[in-house]
Amino acid sequence: MPALFSTHEVTNQSPPFEGRNLFADDAPLQSAVARHAPDAAAALHDLGAAFGSREAFDRGRLANEYPPRLKTHDRQGRRLDIVEYHPAYHECLAQSFAAGLHCSTWEHLATPGANPRPGAQVARAAGFYMAAQMEAGHCCPVTMTHAAVPTLRLAPDLAAEWLPRILSRIYDPSFRPAPEKNSVTFGMGMTEKQGGTDVRTNATTAEPIAAGAGGGTHRLIGHKWFMSAPMSDAFLVLAQAPGGLSCFLVPRFLPDGPINALHFQRLKDKLGNRSNASSEVEFEGAEGWLVGEEGRGVPAIIEMVTATRLDCAVSSAGLMRLALANAVHHTRYRTVFQRRLVDQPLMALVLGDMALDVEAATALSFRLAAAVDEAWHDERQRAWVRLMTPVTKLWVCKLAPALVYEAMECLGGNGYVEEGLLARIYREVPVNAIWEGSGNVMALDMLRVAQREPEAMAQVLDELATASAGHATLTGACARIRNWLGEPQFIEARGRQISEALAVLAAATLLQAHAPAAVSDAFIATRLAGAPRQLYGQGLEGSDVRGILARVLPT
Ligand SMILES: Cc1cc2nc3c(=O)[nH]c(=O)nc-3n(C[C@H](O)[C@H](O)[C@H](O)COP(=O)(O)OP(=O)(O)OC[C@H]3O[C@@H](n4cnc5c(N)ncnc54)[C@H](O)[C@@H]3O)c2cc1C
Repeated sequence: MPALFSTHEVTNQSPPFEGRNLFADDAPLQSAVARHAPDAAAALHDLGAAFGSREAFDRGRLANEYPPRLKTHDRQGRRLDIVEYHPAYHECLAQSFAAGLHCSTWEHLATPGANPRPGAQVARAAGFYMAAQMEAGHCCPVTMTHAAVPTLRLAPDLAAEWLPRILSRIYDPSFRPAPEKNSVTFGMGMTEKQGGTDVRTNATTAEPIAAGAGGGTHRLIGHKWFMSAPMSDAFLVLAQAPGGLSCFLVPRFLPDGPINALHFQRLKDKLGNRSNASSEVEFEGAEGWLVGEEGRGVPAIIEMVTATRLDCAVSSAGLMRLALANAVHHTRYRTVFQRRLVDQPLMALVLGDMALDVEAATALSFRLAAAVDEAWHDERQRAWVRLMTPVTKLWVCKLAPALVYEAMECLGGNGYVEEGLLARIYREVPVNAIWEGSGNVMALDMLRVAQREPEAMAQVLDELATASAGHATLTGACARIRNWLGEPQFIEARGRQISEALAVLAAATLLQAHAPAAVSDAFIATRLAGAPRQLYGQGLEGSDVRGILARVLPT
């Protein structure tokens, strides 16, 4: 006989969502990899098992429940400027480093004259998409280290020294000078109090103090208002040199051993992204070396920022998929009014409708990764990268919060408590839209391409028109974009409208070409035709919702 007052038997609850293979379970991801990087599928299958394991999900939980702490001084008042993390955070980084998510696309650089490995960007993006599902905060130093390489290469002497350290897959969190370490991580310092988008207002100064290779050594004085991953081994930092705003490599340790003068004031108390530390920092005469030409700091760091924008879209797509898979999983077990939730018609429509956005976000993000793979030798892919990076970043990152919120609601009250995954994902997703160029900035970047690089816009539109041929709704959408672009007096006002239209049309053509008809027909019918809508769960009458959901998570 049960003891009085003991907890009731737990019934009608879903089993924990863990121990899943994040690759094998995810049909849209597998399909993107099969299209663009088929040779990577086997390794990604193994990675999907590792990143979706119970232990990996637990690491993600711990890394966020025990956020990093800043230690500015020791007990006797000496400066320390170190951040302590929970071991689970380091374990996440060690896993992602072992998978090469910070370096795999650059490994050809170790061999003089070698070309990039075909499909390397897509393979890495697929790993990154799954790493974000395991734990999103640690992805920040992974993406910054990966993205630092194109900027670093603008300074061949510095690249020769630092690139071999980036290419190591052995994560090394020790606080030591870089030459003594197995590997390094990179951060970036652009945003100041008075401006993050408008970095030309940066007030940090860089004064030349010693001649040497490249532009010699500079002394940096100033502040950065957001500088994430402050325990990185080096940062790419913007500062005003005599010749104008320039990019500098600022290491944590000086070449002769002492700690460089980066003094952390505090860590941001953030809505989400808790496992990742983001600092306010003073550069009190920190030494740095010029990267690229003096006065050309923005073009130099934009190389890094462009790569991180792809990662923002990829990780948002991954988090959308994780939220939806959680919702589908829960509703397959939970019974309400004698019927499983997933079989309640209105719930199935909500889930199926969300699945269309996950399909679209995934297809679009991996199409962009594939374009990055080919851009070095293919002008059309370069045009896609130039135009569709801001478009994809804007659209995918902005879809995520609304979708994650709806997925949370599918779990009812259990979705809203911190012990579940959904609350953490919900707090995490807005940041991808905010950093690395927020919404309006992306729309303006798209318009810049339209106005200054019309040939790139024309190439993408021609590709979309060819893919739309014979389909009245798609050709209509294509014509609408051309009309808007033909009205220069309204062009800025239409920045978001044209961006969204390009994203939806591109996603529709991709789904039409590569997804089952149930997915592409429903996406086109609801996103490009039909009644105006803002809520999920509309317009899928007659669609194969079961088929659509099977692609989110196998039964
Ligand atoms: C968690 C976190 C970590 C971060 N880590 C780093 C880091 O490691 N390194 C770093 O350098 N920065 C970092 N940032 C800063 C981030 O990149 C900036 O917050 C971002 O670039 C926006 O800059 P801002 O905050 O100054 O906003 P603002 O530039 O003031 O922009 C505010 C709003 O105005 C909009 N806007 C801007 N220009 C226009 C325009 N012309 N027309 C219409 N709208 C416009 C923007 O889209 C935005 O919505 C981080 C931010 C966060 C939240």
